[in-house]
Amino acid sequence: MKPEKRGRALVTGASRGIGAAVARRLAADGFPVIVNYRSRADDAEAVVGAIREAGGEAVAHGFDVSDGAATREALEGLLAEDDRAITVVVNNAGVTQDMPFPAMDWTAWERVTRTTVDGFFNVTQPLIMQMISQRWGRIVNMSSVSAHRGNRGQVNYAAAKASLVGATRSLALELAKRKVTANVVSPGLIDTDMTSEVPMNIVEQIVPMRRMGNVEEVAAVVSFLVSDEASYVTGQVIGVDGGFR
Ligand code: NAP
Repeated sequence: MKPEKRGRALVTGASRGIGAAVARRLAADGFPVIVNYRSRADDAEAVVGAIREAGGEAVAHGFDVSDGAATREALEGLLAEDDRAITVVVNNAGVTQDMPFPAMDWTAWERVTRTTVDGFFNVTQPLIMQMISQRWGRIVNMSSVSAHRGNRGQVNYAAAKASLVGATRSLALELAKRKVTANVVSPGLIDTDMTSEVPMNIVEQIVPMRRMGNVEEVAAVVSFLVSDEASYVTGQVIGVDGGFR
């Protein structure tokens, strides 16, 4: 399908890290991109600027995906300001708040699960009918290696990221006959702000490729899943982890 028929792509948490790379990549692939962020407007505008400089189309939109009412209002505004449908959603926004489970308070549990699990619902559910009526859509959810293997100090994060896998598989079944795909990308250790405190010697010990991944390596897999070439790929979990799973 021609890019103009495919509508716009919304990437949540695209002001930095993996989300910013996904936004740049999808723009280079020909999608008009909505660069979502929570608080760092300047970073999001820098991503938009880089995309435009490279000849792509992008706008920045700040809203907190864990806030259902704010997200619904933002999506209504996005749909009202442009008649092109939003047919690609990359649910990438995520946070960690690591601590041993005996010390974990409700705030740490809720912040992490609301951003990932409620964020998925808040962003995806209002946009799904558009994809169904276009008979074309792509949903990519950013999980983590922690969802599959667990990680000390990440009971909240692993629970949230594993929820995305179940939600994606179910959604893929519901939407398959409508030509809307839903898949999970599951990064290992990727070099971003989120992993800035992971010591290099630990990376070398636990990652078979003995290095962190870079954000472009994740964005390349998202680009494939969103492309027409991936039209028969749905309900899958694709690791981008240098063999660390
Ligand atoms: P990052 O550098 O910390 O960036 C997080 C992004 O999410 C920022 O753009 C941030 O926006 C946004 N965000 C956070 N909470 C939000 C909310 N409630 N609403 C909207 N945006 C929100 O993270 P990253 O390393 O790129 O990770 C991206 C995704 O990949 C996350 O889901 C993460 O769990 C997952 N992941 C990362 C790794 C890794 O090794 N880095 C591994 C596995 C999975 P602001 O800056 O504007 O606040």
